[in-house]
Amino acid sequence: NLLKQRKALDYIKPYIPGKPLWEVQKELGLTRVIKLASNENPLGPSPKAIDAITSRLSGINRYPDAHAFELKSVIASQLSLSISQLIITNGADELITLISETYLESGDEIIVPAPSFSEYDFGAHLMGAKVVSVPLDNKYQFNIDSILSAVTDYTKLIYICSPNNPTGTYLPKYMLKKLLHSLPKNILVVFDSAYSHFATKEDYTNGLEYVRSGYPIIVLQTFSKIYGLAGVRVGFGAAPKSIIQSILHVKEPFNVNSLAQAAAVAAITDEEHVDRSKQVNTAGREQLYKALNELGLPYTESMSNFVLVEFGTEAKKIYEELLNLGVIVRYGDTWGMPKHIRISIGTHEENSILIEAICSIQ
Ligand code: PMP
Repeated sequence: NLLKQRKALDYIKPYIPGKPLWEVQKELGLTRVIKLASNENPLGPSPKAIDAITSRLSGINRYPDAHAFELKSVIASQLSLSISQLIITNGADELITLISETYLESGDEIIVPAPSFSEYDFGAHLMGAKVVSVPLDNKYQFNIDSILSAVTDYTKLIYICSPNNPTGTYLPKYMLKKLLHSLPKNILVVFDSAYSHFATKEDYTNGLEYVRSGYPIIVLQTFSKIYGLAGVRVGFGAAPKSIIQSILHVKEPFNVNSLAQAAAVAAITDEEHVDRSKQVNTAGREQLYKALNELGLPYTESMSNFVLVEFGTEAKKIYEELLNLGVIVRYGDTWGMPKHIRISIGTHEENSILIEAICSIQ
């Protein structure tokens, strides 16, 4: 052992994503496998995004635009932001790492409501910073007072995932306002609204209004969910200019490839596909609720494209049996919730297959 790894790495738990569809298909020798595990868009990407990738192919001998100018321009005009308030990244995952690299060092603290998306802890541990977990309440709702009381002189970042992965609950607008007004100005709120398009409640905010008015907040968005482009890896951050400038210091120049940039431009401008994806999700969520109610399975009302279901002590067994039946869902042990399974909303047909599979097991 010539090289000794950094002490900080001892704390890192690498992210283990759900099994890919092809792998399960091959392992089990099944012809039909459906994946309702990673909160992807079951309709696929906009056909316009596929066309854009195809027509950009002949240019891949050239490096991509390091500033992703075209994509930033489209996002800026759609979201009433300026280009200087945007950073484009290799998925929102990369942005979480970049934020950690920019703002954290050993001795610092981040606050993360729990359970939530595991990459926030990963980024902090990577930099040797400490994660202060603040549990959501017993209905998985946010409690601003407990978040505020966790703030110390060492707090640098507060993560809010809204709608929250894996619970599907959200931070109402008045609570975000209260949080921003109560915090010292040297703490950055990282507001992950990766699932914002699926939220249907009036008092939901994607946080962008607070970026526009200059609060210390960075809003994270992704092309992996509503836009159906998880495989090409594009995400972005929106924040006041000075925050974006700081994060740009640590960005690799060619972090987002040219095919991904072209696909994202096409996807964000295809409003029809976005609307259809929202409708399919809202209808699928209702379809799932109805079945879960009939089965007497408790679940948390979700503002997202997945539902967290409580299966009790049988959860692991049910997860494994669903897998054997060719239905991939996400078992909750990742978030320390061994009695829960997170189910992504699929097409009407996929949801029916899932429901039938659950009925055949129970
Ligand atoms: N934030 C949340 C809350 C997520 O659930 C995910 C994806 N699972 C991401 C960010 C990362 O998205 P991307 O694919 O853009 O890296």
